Amino acid sequence: MGQVPQGLLFTGSGGGPWALTNRSDLDPLIFLTWSYFMVVFNDPGSVPENWEPMLEENLETGDSLSLPEYVGTETRGSTRSPSEVMERRPDVGFCSRCQNSKPPRCHHCSVCQRCVLKMDHHCIWVVNCVGACNYKFFLLFLIYTFLETTLDTVTLLPHFIKFFGEAKTHSISPGNLAITVLAFVINLAFALSLICFLVMHASLISSNTTSIEVHEKNRAVRWKYDLGRKKNFEQVFGTNKALWFVPMFSKEDIANISALSGLHFPTRSDIETGSSRS
Ligand SMILES: [Zn+2]
Ligand SMILES: [Zn+2]
Repeated sequence: MGQVPQGLLFTGSGGGPWALTNRSDLDPLIFLTWSYFMVVFNDPGSVPENWEPMLEENLETGDSLSLPEYVGTETRGSTRSPSEVMERRPDVGFCSRCQNSKPPRCHHCSVCQRCVLKMDHHCIWVVNCVGACNYKFFLLFLIYTFLETTLDTVTLLPHFIKFFGEAKTHSISPGNLAITVLAFVINLAFALSLICFLVMHASLISSNTTSIEVHEKNRAVRWKYDLGRKKNFEQVFGTNKALWFVPMFSKEDIANISALSGLHFPTRSDIETGSSRS
């Protein structure tokens, strides 16, 4: 890209650090901005109006069973109460605040005041929830911000050292020294915290878990959504590896990977029985 806006990434005065870099058109800043707007403006995943849970045994035929019908079926001839049936069937949920059925892996966000499909967390940095439909964009935003801040830190390092040398001889103004130190420290702090965040999310993706589900997973003997590392990553980034680091999906992935819609998620047993949809 051309001239980078001065001060956008705490790089101090223009001409100094930036003059040392030879930036190409593949500047991470382009992908950072693209990913940021994708995660901010894309709906993380809303529950369709009048959505009703579809029983696993009816998925192949496409027959759906409403929640009251399901509870009625399970309690008929049984001593279990409807609430006990609901507990035994964690995928079948109901949000008392939205007064609507909840698809599997869906959670209510108290900030957005609505249910979000495969909710990961509510992010104040992007002023949006992170869910099934924008999780990849959020991850790419983290990756490109990490690359950008690392690049800035490396670029600023010689200036940081040089400015300290000049500070000893009092040949630099206190204002310039403060800007350089501040820019270096902020970029370094962002880069270090982002790498920790990225490692955490890579670990979550490798087991097909969200930040919310990590507590449920610890209680489960076998996490049923864990399809194996490769498939788990494809559930988030798509099967087209050429687009893994681009904030978009191919038409085939949108059509074939049901997890991207946030309503149906293949389980380990689907894979084992060969009846998975994706
Ligand atoms: Zn809700
Ligand atoms: Zn939210």
